[in-house]
Amino acid sequence: MNSGRQPLQLALTLLLCSRIATAAEVVKIGGIFDQEDDRLAKAFSLAVDRVNRDMGDLESATFRAKIARVLPKDNLAASRHVCDMLREKVVAFVGPTSDSVKEYLKSVAATFNIPHFSTDFEILERRAPYTLSLHPDLQSLSRLLRDIVEDKKWRKIAVIYDSDDVLIILKDVLTYGFNQSLADVLLYPFDEELSFEKMLKDIGSQQHYNLIVGLQPERAKQLLLASQGLHSSFYNAYLILDLDFHAVSMSGARMENYFANVTLIRLADPHREDVKAQQSQKTAAPYANAPGLHLSLWKPTPNPFDELEISHFSTEEALIYDAVTLIAHSVLSLLRMNAISFQKVNCNKTGSRWDYGQALLDNLKEVTVRGLTGDVRLDRSGKRDAFSFDILEINRTSEVWAYRKSVVWEPRSGLIKRKGEEVEVDKEFSVDGMVLRVVTAPNEPYTIIDETKTGQDRFSGYAIDLIKMLAERANFTPEFYIVADGAYGSHQGNGVWNGLIGDLMKHTADIAIVDLTTTAERESVVDFTTPFMSTGISILFRIPEMQPPSLFSFMHPFSIVVWFYTLTTYILITLGTYMLGRFTPYEWVPSHPCDPDSEPENQFSTLNNCFWFTMGSIMQQGSDLVPRAVSTRTLASLWYFFCLILISSYTANLAAFLTAARMSNPIESANDLAKQTDIAYGAKDGGSTQRFFQNSNNSVYKRMWAYMESTKPSVFPKDNDEGIQRVLKGKYAYLMEATSIEYLVERNCNLTQVGGLLDNKGYGIATPQGSPVRNILEHHLIIMQEFGVLQELKQLWWKAPENPCVRSKDDSAEMTMDSLGGVFLTLVVGVLFGLLVGIFEFWWDKSQAPYGERQHILVEFFREFMMVITCTGSRPNPENEGSSEADDVSKKSSP
Ligand code: GLU
Repeated sequence: MNSGRQPLQLALTLLLCSRIATAAEVVKIGGIFDQEDDRLAKAFSLAVDRVNRDMGDLESATFRAKIARVLPKDNLAASRHVCDMLREKVVAFVGPTSDSVKEYLKSVAATFNIPHFSTDFEILERRAPYTLSLHPDLQSLSRLLRDIVEDKKWRKIAVIYDSDDVLIILKDVLTYGFNQSLADVLLYPFDEELSFEKMLKDIGSQQHYNLIVGLQPERAKQLLLASQGLHSSFYNAYLILDLDFHAVSMSGARMENYFANVTLIRLADPHREDVKAQQSQKTAAPYANAPGLHLSLWKPTPNPFDELEISHFSTEEALIYDAVTLIAHSVLSLLRMNAISFQKVNCNKTGSRWDYGQALLDNLKEVTVRGLTGDVRLDRSGKRDAFSFDILEINRTSEVWAYRKSVVWEPRSGLIKRKGEEVEVDKEFSVDGMVLRVVTAPNEPYTIIDETKTGQDRFSGYAIDLIKMLAERANFTPEFYIVADGAYGSHQGNGVWNGLIGDLMKHTADIAIVDLTTTAERESVVDFTTPFMSTGISILFRIPEMQPPSLFSFMHPFSIVVWFYTLTTYILITLGTYMLGRFTPYEWVPSHPCDPDSEPENQFSTLNNCFWFTMGSIMQQGSDLVPRAVSTRTLASLWYFFCLILISSYTANLAAFLTAARMSNPIESANDLAKQTDIAYGAKDGGSTQRFFQNSNNSVYKRMWAYMESTKPSVFPKDNDEGIQRVLKGKYAYLMEATSIEYLVERNCNLTQVGGLLDNKGYGIATPQGSPVRNILEHHLIIMQEFGVLQELKQLWWKAPENPCVRSKDDSAEMTMDSLGGVFLTLVVGVLFGLLVGIFEFWWDKSQAPYGERQHILVEFFREFMMVITCTGSRPNPENEGSSEADDVSKKSSP
């Protein structure tokens, strides 16, 4: 048994001895870095120290940094260092950053089976088999940028770049823009000759306000600082591509005046808890002055953590640190499995290679470590597998320039907001203390320019006062200026706008105000507040000329219908009087007053008399004919009354017609305008009124537009003043907004508004699209509206100090049957009443006679009636009545 155990004990002892022998291994990692940049070499060295301290199983392995620093294109020097390192049994290479040496190292790694870590992504998919990168790959990066742009809904994007690699990274953004026409992308190569302000203005003038900055960090910083000096910079948005921009000190930036949205991307989070923990454990381990250090031109300090501010490590430094950590982990795990050994490789000998290189390469793709850039893991193809990017936004809650993490991006999930990770919400935007440029255009009473004054004192008017009131409430200082082309803003084609709207789009102004109508077309390129005044299109026209009274103006008080009715009534009443006068017995009186038996006579028995009687009363002169019977008196009274009203009305109206000349207005509405060609009409050129007619589907307005468009010379005045002058000259109607008309007619007695409103709209204050100023203005505007301040302000500017034109209402309109119909009706009723009374009188008279002396009352009535209408005979003397029928007939002489 014992003898059997001896070989086993020997084997165990040998294994132990070999383990101890392995424990003594010094594992060397080669670092090749650019001579000009010692940060990466420092980070490399620091990482090796860290792994020795944290993970180094000192009994099994100690890691040594073998560092070489070469000039960027010095492949010869690099090859010397590499051969030395291979001889020194390095297990892996890390670096460099310069392209030429990197390519060389890739081929060396593949030739001698030494794993190589590069610090950036592969632009070309052709991958060297032994070269690995912990940098997220190009596809992921490109997708990340596209996701951000899509998430932010950017439509107009400019890319400013100083390296063509930027365009490769932006591959997906450009595809998104160009192929799907979702975004308009402007590529702007960085120009060293130009200032940053100039470049920003160039880009802004093309209305590309969302800027992707693919510049070196220092240039990106200068760009942001330059954007502070530009007005309206606060509504630009920047996306900085440099992964290390978060660590750039923004000294010189004035956070209180900076309102642009700045977005950054970060791979390595220096504030992560585990990273901070590493920082706090400053290493006590002496720097390993490893053999082969003579290769290095860099002299490390004893305590590198004092030198390297870990909170400001760059992505490259972090990736080097992580690569070393990964290598150390992998080597240690292979050592523990006894699956690795180290050997010299002769770079001058063909076929010489490290036998365990493949094993290490495979193992590197299996282990996962927690590094400065998060979890570090490679997939089978050697690409970084697990990583996430932090999306940072500028933090406005901070007094100093700072960022906050808003979103995390992962290759599998895209943009994700992690609960609890979002730092404080932005403080509310404020214009407190800011100077805001306000563009306006002269148009009384909105903006009035006093040429005798200078500077800001030149400006007055409703719009100016309104902005001043808003400025007082929101505590900003307005700086007014007049738009260069005097236009309000209309689309000139190709996305270019002129006037106030154009200035807002070019970001030369922060606010635009005047009688600027809110229209859907304008709203698509700028933002509007709620309307501060509502209005609509109407017609400004010259008050018609006074006309001399015509020859027959005495006829004008009554319409022709009234005249006709009057004449007819006159005739009918005359006939009525004639009939009633003859009919009633009480109009028949003895011809000799002292002889009751004398032949009876009747003053109304001739039509001539009756016409005279009624005419006398119309003419207010009377006649010597006096009705005696109640019936005729009733009729006459009503007729007198009728005449009284008719004549009074006529006289009252006549005065107006004879003294004031009649005004005639040929245009009463837009329809009237459309129907004629004698009077020209038009609207302000480039204004919303012109646009209204241009876009209208209404047949009348379409016809009007066809006329306006085709008329030469143009019927579109440049501004309202020109329009008003044309109206005053005559034969021109100006289609204008009612509020402006209201102001004008209050002051100019020759102008008037014709017709009602053709539409309803309002004036708003405009700001550039996305400007936070809009909300602030709107908030105060609503309050001012609620408290009636806007109404008061309007009163102040609209009410003329004294009304120069006392407009008498046109009281000389002819009277119609509507107003005189009642008089006619009264007359009719009166006549009927008179008839009834006449019949009663007849009955009464006949009923006094004994029955034998008269016939039946109806026969008597019929007889009398026939006598009246045949106009024959005179009233028989009651004494002679009944003596003979033939006598009766003879005594009734014709009238
Ligand atoms: N308020 C109009 C505009 O904003 C100008 C005047 C008009 O077109 O009548 O365009």
